[in-house]
Amino acid sequence: MSQTNETQAVVIGAGIVGVCAALALRQAGLAVTLVDPDEPGGEQAASYGNGAFITPASIIPMSVPGLWRKVPGYLLDRDGPLTIRWRHLPRLTPWLLRFLAAGMTTARVERTAAILSGLLHDAPDRHAALAAAAEVPGLIERRGVLYVYPDRAAFAAEALSWRLRRTAGVVWRELDAAALRAFEPALSPAYGFGIHVPAAANCADPGAYVAALAAHAARLGVRRVAARATGFAFDGGRLRAVETDQGPIACNRAVVAAGMASARLAAAAGDRVPLEAERGYHVQLTGGAPGGPHLPVMPSDGKMANTVTREGLRAAGQVELAGAGAPPDWRRAEILLRHLYATWPGLARDLPVRRWMGNRPSTPDGLPVISVARRSPDVFYAFGHGHVGLAAGPKSAALVAALVTGSTPPLSPAPFAATRFRW
Ligand SMILES: Cc1cc2nc3c(=O)[nH]c(=O)nc-3n(C[C@H](O)[C@H](O)[C@H](O)COP(=O)(O)OP(=O)(O)OC[C@H]3O[C@@H](n4cnc5c(N)ncnc54)[C@H](O)[C@@H]3O)c2cc1C
Repeated sequence: MSQTNETQAVVIGAGIVGVCAALALRQAGLAVTLVDPDEPGGEQAASYGNGAFITPASIIPMSVPGLWRKVPGYLLDRDGPLTIRWRHLPRLTPWLLRFLAAGMTTARVERTAAILSGLLHDAPDRHAALAAAAEVPGLIERRGVLYVYPDRAAFAAEALSWRLRRTAGVVWRELDAAALRAFEPALSPAYGFGIHVPAAANCADPGAYVAALAAHAARLGVRRVAARATGFAFDGGRLRAVETDQGPIACNRAVVAAGMASARLAAAAGDRVPLEAERGYHVQLTGGAPGGPHLPVMPSDGKMANTVTREGLRAAGQVELAGAGAPPDWRRAEILLRHLYATWPGLARDLPVRRWMGNRPSTPDGLPVISVARRSPDVFYAFGHGHVGLAAGPKSAALVAALVTGSTPPLSPAPFAATRFRW
């Protein structure tokens, strides 16, 4: 079959990955339907509440050598950037063991960083082009991002991460205390050393951005259906329809891009993918936030993004392994808020604070799943982007669109195969 309007593709999920995939498939000439029970850009999605960083430097996986030694602390320390809920530990253990194994050696981390760099090195350019095409160029800001440390020794303690970034071609400028102050006059004096990555970008409003991309897709002819996908109808291994709670949608290709819900759909297409919710939180000071940052800033001790969005100053971070369905623990948000006030001591304390919790859809090896399904050559995956889904959305979409249409992929798909998880 030629890849034209005869090919009816359904994209399941309208987060950043799904809307980018719908756009890429439409631009390749397919008839595309985008299915999501909720509005694109809505608060249900990780794509709404993230830290808004779009940086080629985000290539370091969470699991690094020596992390396993810290696990007991994560079970006990309620104030750190990573926490594990005791009750979830029995169900979490298989994923956790794979996660720790993925970062057991420097060689494994080097491999992961190199692969992630393939998805991220041109992310700012891809987002800028998308935002321009969707007529929202102002939503992608290209002023770089700042990583701030108490001192040079704290930066040196992350030598492996920065070595891998240098190998990946990330360029930065080191800032002593005076230079850092020139960038960010309101930053706490507790930070005396900084790194500016000028090629990095940020999104000024991730929710509005996803909504704008979905609106752009609709203008290009992508059909939108408000429904929850529940499975697939196959006929001898060939796809006939995506089943939804509103009835079947006839199609002959499908892309699963449903964030945390993707594992269940992948199971229906023959693949067991270990996907865990690395739950994250944000607090947002509504209105302008005088006394806050100008650039997107990541304080090394808090492992969070401090980003000025159009909705207010946002602190986004925390990793909570508690299971996707567990109720939010808003104490995690309070940790972010306390850290935000400490980092920017001049911030007014009486601004209204909005709190949000969402699920990073995370594989244990820190790489997304972008591949064809085991059970059918017509079902494809684009999920599991963990900490980097906003940044990696456009390149992932280009890759999955190439797999669907049989055209030359923009990077090797081999590391992203669903079949890499041997049980
Ligand atoms: C606190 C935090 C900070 C982060 N910071 C950054 C950052 O600075 N930079 C970065 O690049 N990434 C960041 N991330 C990660 C990033 O947000 C995610 O990787 C990314 O948003 C995942 O996008 P997605 O489209 O795969 O999933 P989602 O955005 O979760 O979207 C999934 C969509 O699928 C829909 N859906 C679910 N089930 C079904 C179904 N059965 N049928 C149809 N639709 C369905 C949902 O309604 C939703 O709209 C952060 C995440 C968090 C939580």
